[in-house]
Amino acid sequence: MLEQIKESHPLVYSHFMNLPDGSGESALAQVAALDRYWDHSHQGPPSRVVLRGDELPEGVDIQGDFDLLYAGATLSLLHAAVMAERYGKTVLLVDRHVAGQSTRDWNISRGELLKLQETGVFSEAELDSVIVRTYKTGWVEFASGGERQKRLYIDNVLDCAVDADKLLGMAREKLLAGSSSRICDMTSFQRCFTFPDHVVVEVSDRSGALSYYRAQVLIDGMGVMSPVAMQLNRGRPHTHVCPTVGTIASGFEDADYDVGEILASTAPADFSAGSGRQLIWEGFPARGREYITYLFFYDAVDSDNDKSLLGLFETYFQLLSDYKKPGRDFTIHRPVFGIIPAYSHDGLGRTREIAADRILLFGDAAALGSPLTFCGFGSMVRNMARLTAGLDRALGAAALSKKDLEAISAYEPNVASMANLMKYMCFDARTDAPNFVNELMNEVMIVLDALPQRYRQAMFRDEMRLDELVTVLLKVAARYPRVLKATWDKLGVGGSVTFVKNLAGWALSSTR
Ligand SMILES: Cc1cc2nc3c(=O)[nH]c(=O)nc-3n(C[C@H](O)[C@H](O)[C@H](O)COP(=O)(O)OP(=O)(O)OC[C@H]3O[C@@H](n4cnc5c(N)ncnc54)[C@H](O)[C@@H]3O)c2cc1C
Repeated sequence: MLEQIKESHPLVYSHFMNLPDGSGESALAQVAALDRYWDHSHQGPPSRVVLRGDELPEGVDIQGDFDLLYAGATLSLLHAAVMAERYGKTVLLVDRHVAGQSTRDWNISRGELLKLQETGVFSEAELDSVIVRTYKTGWVEFASGGERQKRLYIDNVLDCAVDADKLLGMAREKLLAGSSSRICDMTSFQRCFTFPDHVVVEVSDRSGALSYYRAQVLIDGMGVMSPVAMQLNRGRPHTHVCPTVGTIASGFEDADYDVGEILASTAPADFSAGSGRQLIWEGFPARGREYITYLFFYDAVDSDNDKSLLGLFETYFQLLSDYKKPGRDFTIHRPVFGIIPAYSHDGLGRTREIAADRILLFGDAAALGSPLTFCGFGSMVRNMARLTAGLDRALGAAALSKKDLEAISAYEPNVASMANLMKYMCFDARTDAPNFVNELMNEVMIVLDALPQRYRQAMFRDEMRLDELVTVLLKVAARYPRVLKATWDKLGVGGSVTFVKNLAGWALSSTR
């Protein structure tokens, strides 16, 4: 694999091979594993990994019994810690890598992070200890040149850099403090077998040896690659994605350590990897002299753009100096990357499958985070107390059917409606001029700048109310009537009807 990458993606190869502690090869393997998403989702029917109880191989030895079995242990570690410590459940977590070692770090506002206190498991002091830096402010700016280019400043949004591994390590410790819960690293979910009163989960270790465990409920926390989500959604678990790559590095000449760069574009759409993508940067100061830069783009899953993370990393290394200037002592400490999933629900409410009898999807496996801000960590933090309390009640009442479990979800109608705005961020060569996304976003920034801070904060913290969104939409349409034609061109009849259905569902819900 390495030789092939050296040929096809020379900049990726050279930068990864220079990573500290020789970690480049394993990081590349993780990148390549995520890029297999595109093989899985585009080749034939999905594998059957959720099977009926009567399909369980005969004579298997059940090696343990738990209330909850978590497949995948990144964000679900936080959920599991609450279920174990607050609700006294026995849990088993399996992860194919090391539980709680993420390939990313997170930004959030302090107020949002402190919502984890509501679970009763994390104290304010503990949560403050995982914040490695707080910025004075942040901004959003899209390149369009001229006087219509508007840098929008936003306070208290994504302004705290969180050490993800420290937070997850804390959850891991809390979980293991209770004697009856376990974590199995380097252990992969293979299949599960559902019975009326339990589920049996088949896992494999690094040698491929299989083991079987029994649980009341399987929590699928396997992220964007979840084979369970793939099967339940008939091979189409996402409508859109946001491939994201970046680095935690030090030695930039022009990094401002007091300010977060929430969204920044430097050029019109890029045509080097298909019919076109609007590349967007983010820059976040982290611990000490470390600085995180991300490059990403919004796209429909079925566009013809190359959406591989390897390809995007090559572009990242080619273009980085257009965004931030690496100095003589520029050093990359760690790559960060992932495919962030999004789903456009075509209905008044949630239309994506997120549960089956005795199976509940969580985090990116459920793909209910904002399709616009892509704050999947923020979404889980915001909903954690509600989700864990709901699952405790369901376990107590033995109400664990698909219908019961899908009611315990992070679906929020205001957040789901943002998928319609995200579609404007997906460059489409058939309908858009090369600078379309930049021009439109500048109009949105000008409108937001004239409104009270609350509007921009709500938009970027996934807290928008319906009246606030309508105000912004009407003002943008008045300033920039071309958006009406763009709506027709980009969304078409089907997409416009979906937009109306989502707004109607939001209006009818209790979270207006
Ligand atoms: C680069 C980047 C930056 C981000 N920044 C932010 C941010 O600043 N703020 C924010 O709110 N959100 C952010 N997000 C989104 C957020 O990181 C995700 O929503 C969140 O990580 C999802 O967590 P998860 O546990 O659901 O999935 P993942 O983080 O994908 O974890 C899935 C876990 O499942 C394991 N797994 C997969 N398959 C198997 C299997 N077969 N068997 C066993 N284990 C398996 C994996 O090893 C992994 O540990 C960012 C995302 C990316 C990619």
